[in-house]
Order: sequence, then C-alpha cells, then structure tokens
Amino acid sequence: MKKVIVDMDGVMADVYHQLMQFEKRDSGKEIEIRDLTGMTELEAFPNGKKHVNEVGFFRTLPVMEGSRDALEYINSKYELYIVSAGMEFPNSLREKFDWLAEHFPFISWEQIVLCGSKKVVHGDIMIDDYPKNLDHFPGEKFIFTQPHNELIENENYKRVYSWEEIMNAL
Ligand SMILES: [Mg+2]
Repeated sequence: MKKVIVDMDGVMADVYHQLMQFEKRDSGKEIEIRDLTGMTELEAFPNGKKHVNEVGFFRTLPVMEGSRDALEYINSKYELYIVSAGMEFPNSLREKFDWLAEHFPFISWEQIVLCGSKKVVHGDIMIDDYPKNLDHFPGEKFIFTQPHNELIENENYKRVYSWEEIMNAL
C-alpha cells in the first residue's frame, strides 16, 4: 500500500485565515489574502510571531475546506501519515494532537508524526505547502497552493489548489 504523507499547517489547517482573524482582533487591521502573494505567513502578518506562540493558536485553527472528506477517503485507500514539524513551536504539540482528534477522529495516534526536520521522511506521495519539505522527499510531490508559494514554478511539483483536486488525483 502506498504511503501518503500529509502536512498540517497550510494544508489541513488554514493558518493564513487564523492570522487574519488574530490581527483583526488585536489591531483592527484587515489584511486581504490577495495582497499576500509571495509572502510567508510571518512576513505577511506584523504580529504573526506573537500570535503563533499564543496558547490556543494551533488548537483553534480552521479546518481547510474539503480536507476532512478527502482525508477520510485517502485513509481508506492508502497508508496515511500526518507529518508536521511541530517542534518549531514546542507548545503546539499537544494542541496539534487535540486538534486532529477533534476534526479527524479516524486518524489514529500511530499515523501522527510530530517532528523537527522532515528530511528524514520517506514515502510515496507528499502533500505540503513548503518547498523545503518537498525538495528532500523521494516520492511524488504535491504542492498545496498558499500565498507564500504561489509564485514558485517547479516542474518537480504537482500544484494543487484544493482538496477536491487532490482527491480526484489520488
Ligand atoms: Mg505547512
């Protein structure tokens, strides 16, 4: 059975949307997604670093549209692993685990890999929004479109814009 490796932030969880909400809450400033092309989350949001370190940030992330149904389907057909570099924000580990249990109850603890670098990750298909994770992966690479990667052109990636598209491809 093929192994499918799926990232959390920017793929299953809508980090930009959360940062927009937190920015609006704190400064009243409304940031438009369409103005953020080519910018990382932390470049796009002036208080982003503070917000990602706030208790509850990862626990309350909105679920990316269509991801639940698509992952339930992928889980029935493939060996699915959720791989997130949670060590970047050590406080996020428990929150990420609880978030997955709430929104993706069909994913068992054995399928969850919260790690540091993803360079050690192997498998057949990887779905991620960051080239730094995809580039070391030996299998097929799906880049999940997010503002920070929109301008990147790389023939080694299959660019996808939605979970519906991923479901149709797998
Ligand atoms: Mg990500």
